Amino acid sequence: MDLWVTEYQTPSLGFACKVKETLAVEQTPFQYLSIVDTEQFGRMLLLDGMVMTTEKDEFVYHEMITQIALNSHPRPEQVLIIGGGDGGALREVVNHPLVEKGTLVEIDARVVENSKIYFPELSCSFQSPRAEVIIDDGISYVKQQKDKFDIIIIDSTEPVGPAVQLFQPEFYQAVYEALKEDGMLVAQSESPFFNQDIIKMVNEGVKMVFPLTKLYLAAVPTYPSGLWSFTVGSKKHDPELVVNKPQKPLKYYTSEIHQAAFKLPAFVGEIIG
Ligand code: SAM
Repeated sequence: MDLWVTEYQTPSLGFACKVKETLAVEQTPFQYLSIVDTEQFGRMLLLDGMVMTTEKDEFVYHEMITQIALNSHPRPEQVLIIGGGDGGALREVVNHPLVEKGTLVEIDARVVENSKIYFPELSCSFQSPRAEVIIDDGISYVKQQKDKFDIIIIDSTEPVGPAVQLFQPEFYQAVYEALKEDGMLVAQSESPFFNQDIIKMVNEGVKMVFPLTKLYLAAVPTYPSGLWSFTVGSKKHDPELVVNKPQKPLKYYTSEIHQAAFKLPAFVGEIIG
């Protein structure tokens, strides 16, 4: 009998993948975690039934949530990631030649533990001498930091459960204060097709706090609609200008993609006004 996993991306749209093997299923203190091996995308991590990452397309999201800020900030030395417990964004951060330390604050230890077992290509970053992994609520952690980070990346689940406050202007204000005087924030801001309200909310919230706010896009096949958005808030540096390079060539990110990612289709431009 065939086994399929389906993410209900909207109340009337499902994204289904044929499953080769179920690897882990558990209710953590924060969310329902499942890891399955799929025919099309390899291993897939789902939280509360939503696809977080897969072996085959993780590189797009993880490169694009990190490399834009890492290569437009002239000294991306201290980088903080909120969420991102699979380790993929942290891998990009600690491999960047200019980073001194990547700190990851994930609320759910079970995401980190399961990633160590089932996603070694992401969780390898936890072993880096430049990495620190803290199990804590990112909101209370950020509130305790002042003038400390060059870049803060919000690699969160969508705004439900413990992630709700990660999308609020009060949190962006705390992020602003945790950043140095030329710091940059990057937040994943969901699909331009299905989550226009979230993009608008993030954009307006970040704009209230940061002098420079920009949106960029990347194509992530396993995320709802396949087109994903990221919002940058910057105190000083223009995130569109490429000033650094990764250590070695990557799979999605190039300097050309960096600039192209900010060129928005007309309907996306309209969302942010
Ligand atoms: N790339 C993903 C996506 O957009 O689907 C996000 C992946 S990552 C696994 C998201 C992580 O954010 C989850 O592991 C979740 O536990 C974590 N998270 C949610 N709220 C958080 C909070 N308040 N503080 C720290 N981590 C949080």
